[in-house]
Amino acid sequence: MAARHDQTTDPGLQENLLQARRGTAFFARKLNELTDAQLDGDTLLPDWTRRHVIAHVGYNARAIARLIEWAATGIETPMYPSPEARNHEINFGATLSPIALRNLFDHSAVHLSVEWRDLPDANWTNEVRTAQGRTVPATETVWMRTREVWIHAVDLNNGATFNDIPTPILEQLLKDITGAWKTRRTDTGLLIKATTTAGTDTNLTFGDTTATNPTIITGPLPAVVEWATGRGTTGITATGPRTKGTTPSAPPWI
Ligand code: ZN
Repeated sequence: MAARHDQTTDPGLQENLLQARRGTAFFARKLNELTDAQLDGDTLLPDWTRRHVIAHVGYNARAIARLIEWAATGIETPMYPSPEARNHEINFGATLSPIALRNLFDHSAVHLSVEWRDLPDANWTNEVRTAQGRTVPATETVWMRTREVWIHAVDLNNGATFNDIPTPILEQLLKDITGAWKTRRTDTGLLIKATTTAGTDTNLTFGDTTATNPTIITGPLPAVVEWATGRGTTGITATGPRTKGTTPSAPPWI
């Protein structure tokens, strides 16, 4: 994963690449803490064992590498042939032997890192298409990978938490997620306020900011992001009409 000498000279992009590689290293660390037998264990995702998560993270690197090849050559290579092919690949990957599964993760991560490293400055603005059909510049692939590796490291369910995720990444996640809700208008009457871990105010307020009597979801930033990604309500305080004694579930994000 030790990529040396990225071709890009853009300091912001270099910093983002560092965050993606740090996240990949963090996922690798959590994966390496698991014994082969533990790969069969449950994750935070319904119906997915750790094997599914590891296979998905490996194939995700390959899929993002295809987008970088597209940005490099101009020859259209989608992330996945179809959503069915993506799901089939994950289910197949989950049946691999532990060593093959670990190699899939390692090799795909190195491959993606090299593709990023070798992409010239001029090609980073070339447009590619995500699995959801969004057209984005190649620079966006760095964020796509960053959020995958950090969140799925928590999903592995062997000790990583949202507190392990760097604050700038948590802030970007919350912006992304609440932005998706706004686009779909699923945030009506829902106000989300993240505090610092010490409980003091921040300017991180999202959702339906003009509602007269909103349901307010608040808590430290890691807890709010955990809630927003649908992975728990620990540390969350909810008040207002939607609560009925419990914290309401976050609207779907992906
Ligand atoms: Zn994913």
